Amino acid sequence: MAYSIEGRTGAWEVVIGLEVHAQVISKAKLFSGAAATFGAEANAQVSFVDAAFPGMLPVLNEECVAQAVRTGLGLNAQINLVSRFDRKNYFYADLPQGYQISQYEHPIVGKGVVEIELADGSTRQIGVTRLHLEQDAGKSLHDQHPTKSFIDLNRSGVGLMEIVSEPDLRSPEETGAYLRKLRAILRYLGTCDGNMEEGSMRADVNVSVRKAGEAYRTRCEVKNVNSVRFVMQAVEAEAARQVEVWESGGEVVQETRLFDPARGETRPMRSKEDAHDYRYFPDPDLLPLVLDADWVEQLRAALPELPDEKRARFMRDFGLSGYDASVLVAERATADFFEAVAAGQDAKLAANWVTVELFAVLNKRGLSIENSPVSAVALGQMLDLMANGTINGRIAKDVFEAMVDSGDLPAVIVERKGLRQVTDTGAIDAACAAVLSANPDKVAEYRSGKDKMFGFFVGQVMKAMAGKGNPALVNEALKKLLSA
Ligand code: ADP
Ligand code: MG
Repeated sequence: MAYSIEGRTGAWEVVIGLEVHAQVISKAKLFSGAAATFGAEANAQVSFVDAAFPGMLPVLNEECVAQAVRTGLGLNAQINLVSRFDRKNYFYADLPQGYQISQYEHPIVGKGVVEIELADGSTRQIGVTRLHLEQDAGKSLHDQHPTKSFIDLNRSGVGLMEIVSEPDLRSPEETGAYLRKLRAILRYLGTCDGNMEEGSMRADVNVSVRKAGEAYRTRCEVKNVNSVRFVMQAVEAEAARQVEVWESGGEVVQETRLFDPARGETRPMRSKEDAHDYRYFPDPDLLPLVLDADWVEQLRAALPELPDEKRARFMRDFGLSGYDASVLVAERATADFFEAVAAGQDAKLAANWVTVELFAVLNKRGLSIENSPVSAVALGQMLDLMANGTINGRIAKDVFEAMVDSGDLPAVIVERKGLRQVTDTGAIDAACAAVLSANPDKVAEYRSGKDKMFGFFVGQVMKAMAGKGNPALVNEALKKLLSA
């Protein structure tokens, strides 16, 4: 069902387009050799170029260019063999150059597409308008001194990819799905770590509202939102605000706003500047960027398997549902873990153990799958014990819990705790007979047609056997005794 906001004057459709800034994974900055790692001491990673000393010249980092091309290929986008760097001029204390080197008219990557999956199982194609390379600015620190502001230039000159979407998104859910999918693609590619808390990925969220069938109305841009959840909340809050403005007879004015997560609302930051305010012009220090078509093809050939392809393969080769496959490919580490568990196993069962039992443990302990207390090998061994009848499905849960707690291998736990499944029919028959003779009234009920009683007998027998009875043999024995 399409998302809309019910106002006093009827339903409003929400229109969203994202500009995502993604920090390029590279040892050095876009135009200098200074390091670009997160968390260094302030101003420890600043070259003369980054500090804009007079006479310094930018030198383009080829790895950043390769990363932008890989990303463009991963977004199914047009790679422009000729692109250009422009100066985007503005004054800010943390921008010593007085301009940012960016790409304006001729970006390195053109139109592309990202497929998103929604909770109801449907998919949508979201258009990517462009991807361009640009420098990040430094950072002003206003909370270090009572009367002074400090400047940290570590980020100054770090390579960013700005990835602009078409205004194709129509709900908070779609916006969240797009951002998560984009992040997954970047992480698979190894071109951005997607770490929103550390600021290596941030989104400017453009929002407008309209009545069905109308042309787009004026949008506002909510700047620098730094988590998927906040982006979704910002869409909701900003769309609701605009509906209220229109319905009370006002007009939405194009402006830049900030999202306040504590209050769940957006507030104005500044009036929106237009491109001409920045006096863009080609950077005279840099030649046009000309790529070799063969080099682009080499990068294409070396791309890893991406989430969409992996999902399709998991559905095809493992017979998984679209939903299970999506959950498993969302993170590359999860997909790798699953594949290691599933090798030679019932894939559906392996998928269940990973997405249900293991995820529950990881969530509870706040761990990522890389730090899983149970290795893929150990989980695979546990599935082996189930497949060869050493333990039953009920006991497997206990074994798994013990694996999580002790870190021991499943076979060791089974022996230590004596959890082997009982398949000895003599022992099973005896346990069944004991349960039936202890419950003559229930046996009479069963015989008079109350079939439901059967489950009760199975439960009692399993309890008497400490959960270790082979369920198929228990069923068989009970049936035989009850029909005698
Ligand atoms: P700018 O660079 O000035 O921010 P762009 O034309 O590059 O402007 O668009 C920025 C973003 O705004 C894009 O992601 C685009 O999809 C989105 N956008 C454009 N028009 C609308 C609209 N009417 N409603 C919502 N988003 C919009
Ligand atoms: Mg913008």
